[in-house]
Amino acid sequence: MIEYRAPTRDMAFTLQQVAGFSEMAKACGYEEASDDVVAAILQEAAKFSSSVIAPINAAGDQSGVHLEPDHSVITPDGFAEAYQQYADSGWASLQFDPKFGGQGLPFSLAIPVQEMWHAANMAWGLCPLLSQGAVEALSENASDALKQKLLPKMISGRWTGTMNLTEPQSGSDLSDIRTKAWQDGDVYRIKGQKIFITWGEHNMAENIIHLVLARLPDAPPGVKGISLFAVPKYLPDVSGEPGERNDCRAVSLEHKLGIHASPTCVMSYGDNEGAIGYLVGEENQGLACMFTMMNNARLTVGLQGVSISERAYQQARDYAFERTQGTAPGEHPGVSPIIRHPDVRRMLMTMKALTEAARGLAYTGCVAVDYANTLHLPDGARERYQRRADLLTPLVKGWCTEIAQEVTSLGIQVYGGMGFIEETGIAQHYRDARILPIYEGTNGIQALDLVGRKIIRNQGKAMAELIDDMRQLTVPVQRTSSLTAERQARFDQAVAFLEDATGIVLDRGNDDQFTGSVAHNYLMLSATVTAAWLMLKSTTAAAKQSIDEDSYAASKLATTNFFFDHILPRSSAYVTALRSGDDAIMALPEIDF
Ligand SMILES: Cc1cc2nc3c(=O)[nH]c(=O)nc-3n(C[C@H](O)[C@H](O)[C@H](O)COP(=O)(O)OP(=O)(O)OC[C@H]3O[C@@H](n4cnc5c(N)ncnc54)[C@H](O)[C@@H]3O)c2cc1C
Repeated sequence: MIEYRAPTRDMAFTLQQVAGFSEMAKACGYEEASDDVVAAILQEAAKFSSSVIAPINAAGDQSGVHLEPDHSVITPDGFAEAYQQYADSGWASLQFDPKFGGQGLPFSLAIPVQEMWHAANMAWGLCPLLSQGAVEALSENASDALKQKLLPKMISGRWTGTMNLTEPQSGSDLSDIRTKAWQDGDVYRIKGQKIFITWGEHNMAENIIHLVLARLPDAPPGVKGISLFAVPKYLPDVSGEPGERNDCRAVSLEHKLGIHASPTCVMSYGDNEGAIGYLVGEENQGLACMFTMMNNARLTVGLQGVSISERAYQQARDYAFERTQGTAPGEHPGVSPIIRHPDVRRMLMTMKALTEAARGLAYTGCVAVDYANTLHLPDGARERYQRRADLLTPLVKGWCTEIAQEVTSLGIQVYGGMGFIEETGIAQHYRDARILPIYEGTNGIQALDLVGRKIIRNQGKAMAELIDDMRQLTVPVQRTSSLTAERQARFDQAVAFLEDATGIVLDRGNDDQFTGSVAHNYLMLSATVTAAWLMLKSTTAAAKQSIDEDSYAASKLATTNFFFDHILPRSSAYVTALRSGDDAIMALPEIDF
């Protein structure tokens, strides 16, 4: 069995000292989320993740999921039992409204907890991830009656949720969705096919609520004519329990590169009389309603990047201590553990630095969401946090999932030949991680969202505020941290690159070919510089907090130094590519593809 031990120290520290959880909890009225409560929740989640979910990860990858002739889906051994335990222990309800049975804790407190689920078992964790997004979408957009009907069961974890956008002809571009809906008394009927539906069918919960995008008769063309419907697998009866089977089913499962234990279903709605659905929000406003779920899921998919990176890092590090090979520099002749070889250390440090920085970025984005959702904050402050959350969402989704490719690949490299052999288990993380830049809006789409909606649309205001915050930190850092002047100068230079690049993007904001060509590099630049800022913040806080009490502060500083020497210089390459604009990319017809 390959172990996972949740890094609770770094999680709690990042949440509190980097993302500013305690100040947020005070400002936003979450007094019950004290340091002790946070610590207790993380400890319990750590136990659950390592003792219940992690042990079924590798076996689940090997056995996969199976569609039965009656259209039911059988999940790997232990998955349903683990889910039952998860629901019974109250994990599904952490951040939700007490009015519907939730525990009323901040969203950002659920984030380190979920990091553990995905690190322990990403395929399993996708079921709670989608359910949480569906609860958010219903909480924000459904009528009171529909909330009463669905939310208590979903928040308790007894029912799960799915997200049904994709159709064969409609992936990144949802304007061509063809699933039909029509009114039938006080409900709607749904007919059509959806593909790639994660956890669309399974045996872990007693009911599944599908959130389905469909088009009503006479709806305007394009994305303005899409409505959102909640389509239960079993229709709730008069007592609210699962009753009659609805006209929807999984017709096949995809065979995939990774996340084998997560059923990716082709779903058919309305093969007979039409599946019964309940309208969520207003007619033709479905995409906006679905965006509640998509924004939530973009952050949590980014978090999956942190999780899988942490898992791969732990495993590679443990292997590097055990595996002996050659004599490391400075050692007596004989075999050394490979962790003594400088190049292996370089790989492990890259993995560690990227993972910790990504954790800081993801947690910070989620704390901004909590602020933005707090109604009693003064308007100006709320709007500022909303801009910050909106800005960080594509950075979290895009960057944390890109670094997961690098980190999980390095994990295999640390193992040498054994990394390529499935039985060691390190390859699973690499395969599982590969979906992350694709689903929930490809990273290409994230980059366009960043440049178009988050920079150009608000004339760079959100980015200017972020850069201001970065510059404020550099003053105390210069006085208190042990960063060398050279590293400090490298950071200042990187912030200047970001400012310059933002100016270029704004200047040429009307030129789609240009913005489309530079969007990826702009996303990578913004996230790399923001991550460096958060590493600075963490090392400064660690130095203040634990004066020689343990090695944590020293390790944080070493990791930050590594980030500044080996990762932050990438910002120079990103800005160089960005300045070259679309010249080389779009030089058609000269490019001979
Ligand atoms: C395992 C798995 C699970 C999934 N789970 C779900 C789910 O639960 N629910 C659901 O609804 N969907 C789900 N999806 C679908 C997923 O969200 C889509 O695959 C994804 O959005 C990309 O759409 P596509 O596959 O049609 O690719 P395409 O849209 O065809 O994209 C192909 C390439 O073109 C690029 N591209 C497309 N349009 C543009 C553009 N305008 N500008 C620049 N580049 C562009 C893309 O970035 C990509 O690189 C899942 C997919 C997989 C594989």
